[in-house]
Amino acid sequence: MGKKYELPQLPYGYNALEPHISEEIMKLHHDKHHAGYVNGANAALEKLEKARNGEIQIDMKAVLRDYSFNFGGHILHSVFWPNMAPPGKGGGTPGGKIADEINKSFGSFDKFKAQFSDAAKTVEGSGWALLLYDSQIDQLVLTQIEKQNFMHLPELKILLGVDVWEHAYYLQYKNDRGKYVESWWNVIDWDDVDKRFSSAEK
Ligand code: MN
Repeated sequence: MGKKYELPQLPYGYNALEPHISEEIMKLHHDKHHAGYVNGANAALEKLEKARNGEIQIDMKAVLRDYSFNFGGHILHSVFWPNMAPPGKGGGTPGGKIADEINKSFGSFDKFKAQFSDAAKTVEGSGWALLLYDSQIDQLVLTQIEKQNFMHLPELKILLGVDVWEHAYYLQYKNDRGKYVESWWNVIDWDDVDKRFSSAEK
């Protein structure tokens, strides 16, 4: 067995995103949910290895689906945490190259914000809204992820993502996903998004 997936540390304290995202949510979300995806992805790899060695028999389709689900959760949350910063450092409008690219791709920041929010609010059930860079058309594009299962094929680099699973907001916002999404704009770390854009564009 080689290296394993590891749970990254949060780049700030559990309470750093308050009042927009509560300490209680951050603790559970990082320490239970994200940790669960890391453990799940490692467990799936272990099952595959044991099956190769003839130690166990597996339902290949189920194990690979499980691997993809947990891997997807790990990757998306690993972008989600550093995409955010405490209010003041986070929020506002972007600067740098990402600001120009947003204007080029969406017409203006306000048009982008409205369309991204709409994408986040309308995810059916649990999932994500993501901002991606598509080098084929040299543009930023939006996508929705249902649940978190993208079968290991994120061809386009993820620049910004918002988790709209109920575990991301329910304890604080109950069923008002829209209010959560509106608050989330106050904690976006645009420097992080800009860095991701610069490395995606290369
Ligand atoms: Mn989550």
